[in-house]
Parts: sequence; C-alpha cells; structure tokens
Amino acid sequence: MNRALRAASGALAASVPALSHIDPARILFVFNPHMASRARVFPLAFDATGTRVSRDGRRRRPLVRFRGCRVRYVIEYGPSFLAASPGRRLRTLVHEMLHISPFFNGTLSRSMRHAVRGRGQFEMLVRAAVDRCAAAGGEAAFRYLDLGPKFVVMEWRRPFSLADGGVRTEKDLRRVKRSDAGIPR
Ligand SMILES: [Zn+2]
Repeated sequence: MNRALRAASGALAASVPALSHIDPARILFVFNPHMASRARVFPLAFDATGTRVSRDGRRRRPLVRFRGCRVRYVIEYGPSFLAASPGRRLRTLVHEMLHISPFFNGTLSRSMRHAVRGRGQFEMLVRAAVDRCAAAGGEAAFRYLDLGPKFVVMEWRRPFSLADGGVRTEKDLRRVKRSDAGIPR
C-alpha cells in the first residue's frame, strides 16, 4: 500500500501543477486501524523553524527514515479509507497532499488550512486537481488506488505521535495482510 499510494501521489504530482512540489519518496503512508477519519497528514517539522526542533529547542518531532530515505511527512489512513471507492480514495489523497507546504520542508501549507479555506472551497480545489489529473493523462493515479481484494499495509508497532521525538525507521513498522472483507463499512 505504501508503494501504491506513493505511485498514485507521483502520478498526481506529475500531472497537477498545484501538487508538483511533492516528492512521494519522502512521504510515508501508514495504516492506522484505530483512526476514525479517512486520512491525516503529519508534518514532521515545526512551522517556526522548518526543522524537527522547536524554536526554544525543547521539543522535537520524530525523525522518520524509511529504507535510508529521510521522510518529510507521514500520512496515516484508516479503515474508512480502505472501505472507500478508488475515486474517493483519490480525492482523500489529493486533500492530504494539498495540506503539504509548497516548500515541501515538513511543514503544512499556511494558505491551505481549513481555518483559511472553507470546506466548500477546499473541496473545489480537490475536485479541480482530480479533473486536472484525469485531463493530463494521470489515469494511472486511479489505477494505483484500485486495490483489489487483498493487499499489504504497514502499521506502526507502537502508536505514532508528533510529540514523540525519537527516531523511527522501517524497523518500527510491521507489514499486515488485509482484505476488503475485513474492513468495516
Ligand atoms: Zn484537511
């Protein structure tokens, strides 16, 4: 699933100018079986510093590496993401990608906060990006999100939190086989 979601993000970044700053190799997609919402993006840098260390130097965000590559964002997805249609999954993925800073430095976009954009306007931007992707030959993005009945997800061995300033790597993840049938709708 990490590979499928990275591939879908790559197809989106290649076909949608508003997402062209996104490097899917630096996003890690992790399944969270307890998450109520479809997906959530975790910024691994502080707004004030653009690094994982807070301005007063007291707090640290986790340092995440996956197979030797430093990760800038973790995107967690929950059971309702898996239960959704491929089209809905794509819109959810675009939604989370739109939250990412244009500098791709681990922070979130200031202008793409829900407090700044109303729900309706955010939805409109998501739809525009999906249309753009389809028009620019990005159908591959849809295909990658058509999971089939069985797939493998990665889950954290212990819950992930931005307040947890340690190092996380692939050793902190386990691969779990899932099937559509096991996902509550
Ligand atoms: Zn959002």
